[in-house]
Amino acid sequence: MLGTMQDRPLVLPHIFERAEKYSSRKEIITGDATGGVQRRTYGEWADRTRRLGGVLDQLGISEAGRVATFAWNTANHLELYFAVPCSGRVLHTLNIRLFPEQLTYIVNHAEDEAIFIDRSLLGLIGPLLDTFETVKHLIVMDDGAPTEFPAGHEFADYEELLAGAEPVEFSVDDENRAASMCYTSGTTGHPKGVIYSHRSTFLHTMGAMTADSVGVAETDTILPVVPMFHANAWGLAHAAVATGASLVMPGPQMTPPALAGLIESEKVTIAAGVPTIWMGVLPELEGRDLSALRLIPCGGSAVPKALSEAYRAQVGLPILQAWGMTETSPLASVARIPSTLADRPEDELIDLRASQGPPVLCVGLRVADQVTGEELPWDGETSGELQAAGPWVTASYYNDERSPQSFTSDGWLKTGDVAVITPEGFVKIVDRTKDVVKSGGEWISSVELENEIMAHPAVAEAAVIGVSHPKWSERPLACVVAAEGSEVTKEEILEFLDGRVPGWWLPDDIIFISEVPKTSVGKFSKKDLRERFGDHVLPTAGD
Ligand code: AMP
Repeated sequence: MLGTMQDRPLVLPHIFERAEKYSSRKEIITGDATGGVQRRTYGEWADRTRRLGGVLDQLGISEAGRVATFAWNTANHLELYFAVPCSGRVLHTLNIRLFPEQLTYIVNHAEDEAIFIDRSLLGLIGPLLDTFETVKHLIVMDDGAPTEFPAGHEFADYEELLAGAEPVEFSVDDENRAASMCYTSGTTGHPKGVIYSHRSTFLHTMGAMTADSVGVAETDTILPVVPMFHANAWGLAHAAVATGASLVMPGPQMTPPALAGLIESEKVTIAAGVPTIWMGVLPELEGRDLSALRLIPCGGSAVPKALSEAYRAQVGLPILQAWGMTETSPLASVARIPSTLADRPEDELIDLRASQGPPVLCVGLRVADQVTGEELPWDGETSGELQAAGPWVTASYYNDERSPQSFTSDGWLKTGDVAVITPEGFVKIVDRTKDVVKSGGEWISSVELENEIMAHPAVAEAAVIGVSHPKWSERPLACVVAAEGSEVTKEEILEFLDGRVPGWWLPDDIIFISEVPKTSVGKFSKKDLRERFGDHVLPTAGD
């Protein structure tokens, strides 16, 4: 037999130990709720992370127990990112923007045993604490916010627990062991859980480090504006630790002036966020020294050409568009222009940068006919459902009977996005089959919004579509049919919805139509509505 390589597991303790050994003097900077920044070296971070492992033991968190976070991007959150999986437990990042009922569902569905909460977020989670069935420990991480502690619950203090704990050794043998999980909200029904293994996270981290994807390196200073609670901050938190890159964590300082200030003062080289963030930050960049900045990865929603070009004009850097999903860890494609296309005319290059790009190493992407499932040609014209496969693409949803609907018979993930692929392999998303609106990087369920509107006694039918918005990428437009013999106004519907849905779900406009167009099987035809009203100019477009 020919010799083979050693079979060593791809597990997070290896990434952790690299930072501890080789990057101990590098810094993680975190913005707090008072407007200040706190500095921590990787050495201090590593010691605290080991102590946090001790805290989890002391709290009696079970062997593969789920530990939830309700937190901004902070050095503390990064401690949880490693201490939880490196001690064999499963990190569950709760998305702070989910609907309250969704948060209750996911905490109970994941059977979270503890929740680590940033103090500034206590007000959001406080009203839900009684609905959590399995949570035994609530730990508060004080970020300087004066938020009151909700009455009737006991909270432990993160710093006190760390001070009283011993550092532990980390060891994980099975690379397929679950490391973390994140729920994604779909069209209807409850959010669906995606489980990341040590192996998938390890490989994804290396994926984020390859030069032709994001290309994170030790010399970088990374500002992940993209949240650690939604799709793993696009892998940047792990990649920073793996390389020893400096990290600038904004914490609750998410305003455009604060972010622009951090980019300048900390000499950020990679700043990543959704298009809404970069739209807000752009006017704040005027007159600042941004010479350190080398890359602005952006995704979560389509990056408008104009935005990318505005950055090219002002900062000298076009935006680097990436596409991915919670289900794909998320990094799946990056719109880097290969050398073979670099001599194309400028307007073609602009178009290529506005596409979702070719897949990164390890990921397969294809388009398939939505009815027959047959694979479609890469002609840049034939559109079909985008499907994905790879070692960091999920194979199922956690404990969810809806799983089979999302996968093809050969195991590819049906993404719910509709795309064409060019002969060069560039993916261009043209539509989506999933019925949702993505506003500022977070989902609004059209179907739930429609149900709430249709609960109004004077409404017969309501269909919600996403319409492009200069600031939020998309905002909901409601197309409403009044009940026979009834009259209802936009204001009455908005007033009716107030309190029934989160404020940021309220439609930006409501138009009245005589009938909602239907498909052959009687479903609302969103495609027709999008064709008819996709260009509708929202009254909020100038805000
Ligand atoms: P999530 O799982 O919440 O991160 O959402 C993933 C979905 O966001 C994708 O299936 C797309 O619909 C959308 N998305 C992500 N990145 C992009 C992008 N670069 N362009 C267009 N849509 C995107």
